[in-house]
Amino acid sequence: MSGPNHSCGVAGIASASDVVSSLQKSLMIIQHRGQESAGITVFDKGELQTVRDNGLVHAVLTDESIAHLRGKVGVGHVRYSTASSKSVLNAQPMTVGTGFGAVAVAHNGDITNYDELVGGYKARGASFLTESDSELVAAVLGKHMALHNDPVKAMKGMMGELEGSFALVIMINDRLFGMRDPYGLMPLCIGGIEGGHIIVSESAAVDALNGTFIRDVAPGEIVEVMHDRFVPHQAVTHRHKAHCMFEWVYFARPDSVIDGREVYDVRKRIGEILAKECPADVDMIMPIPDSGRAHAIGFSIASGIQYEEGFMKNRFAERTFILPDQSERELAVSMKMNPIKSTVKGKRMVIVDDSIVRGTTLKKLISMLRVAGAKEVHVRVGSPPVVAPCYYGVDMRSRDQFVANGHTLDEVRDIIGADSLGYISIEGLIAAIGKPEGDLCLGCVNGKYPTRIPGEAERFQSTLMSDF
Ligand code: AMP
Repeated sequence: MSGPNHSCGVAGIASASDVVSSLQKSLMIIQHRGQESAGITVFDKGELQTVRDNGLVHAVLTDESIAHLRGKVGVGHVRYSTASSKSVLNAQPMTVGTGFGAVAVAHNGDITNYDELVGGYKARGASFLTESDSELVAAVLGKHMALHNDPVKAMKGMMGELEGSFALVIMINDRLFGMRDPYGLMPLCIGGIEGGHIIVSESAAVDALNGTFIRDVAPGEIVEVMHDRFVPHQAVTHRHKAHCMFEWVYFARPDSVIDGREVYDVRKRIGEILAKECPADVDMIMPIPDSGRAHAIGFSIASGIQYEEGFMKNRFAERTFILPDQSERELAVSMKMNPIKSTVKGKRMVIVDDSIVRGTTLKKLISMLRVAGAKEVHVRVGSPPVVAPCYYGVDMRSRDQFVANGHTLDEVRDIIGADSLGYISIEGLIAAIGKPEGDLCLGCVNGKYPTRIPGEAERFQSTLMSDF
């Protein structure tokens, strides 16, 4: 399986006028999907021009750095990575010259049969410069272009070879395509903007460009996007989908709509259901900002208990989640968050967060609340216990990092130092999202994966496959 590609953000725009500034803006809006690197590629005068580097969008794609870019078609990418994969070589969009033209690829997801495919291509003489899924995508596309000499047919062939999750925007010379894996694991949608169309990971970017959301790209669909229209081609249709539940729980912006469900509304419903499933006799409901806020509002409404902001978050602090070392992560949490003493002193509270992975954040936050004089701290969590790895792009890779793996509920409560602990049930989460269980990927909470995963138990497959 490849290393560096994780949940990322992608965008592509085709317009009657220049797309550079709109691409830059749309990447700023989906910055939360990846803070490691950013890039834009446009097609201009017969060739691709790219600006990409490690860093945030506003630092990499400055007005100066992109001043020389011009083009009516372009793609962009923000990359999320783990602590171990920061090489600028892996920054996207990835561009390659091929016999059929210049290709730019921006990918969100993880190709789970990467090793197998790369091995096969190398055996037939191909060479790879990076460990990136995007380079593999370009190679697979190249093979099918040689066979069909038609991008849509080639992408259909590609869809048959790639396994795992992929929301892709691909530019072949000045033609722009979007493509979503057959299960729709990662989000991708189409919007109309002034003078053209955008294809992007989250609908919030369409809003920011004063555009009109048109629809999600369907699972297994390839869409050619032009300035005045878009042409869909359904390549594969599975009876079931497998939309990543974590997009609604944590990853996406609350103001995005994914596969027909408003992210904010889902989070609020999670909080409401959580309040019913795991009530608590407390004085106030407090979110862990920012990710637990909508869940906490739902909890407060359903329980009728006062909502309070008890933590101040330093919005400029670095990301704690990817720091390599446990003590560094704990220190970074206190740089990021500080309790508001007057709110918490002497109070019994529920604190609501979206998820517990290692438990580092909550353990540290609870001890800070105790120092600040909190009387009781009850933890409620907006996702079921994360016990299994994500193979599709969310950075939760190994079972031994999950605090809920191998520990009972009471043990986890003691490890994080809470007075009580309650997670939403899997059924509750499914109800909050409002889609059938068979159309969701719940791999990280139930260990059942919608696609073949090398090394992961096949037993899940045999039960799942009978559905298809
Ligand atoms: P932990 O301290 O390991 O329990 O981290 C859990 C917190 O980190 C959650 O409350 C989320 O807000 C956030 N989180 C969960 N998964 C991820 C991820 N893959 N990348 C970044 N942050 C995450």
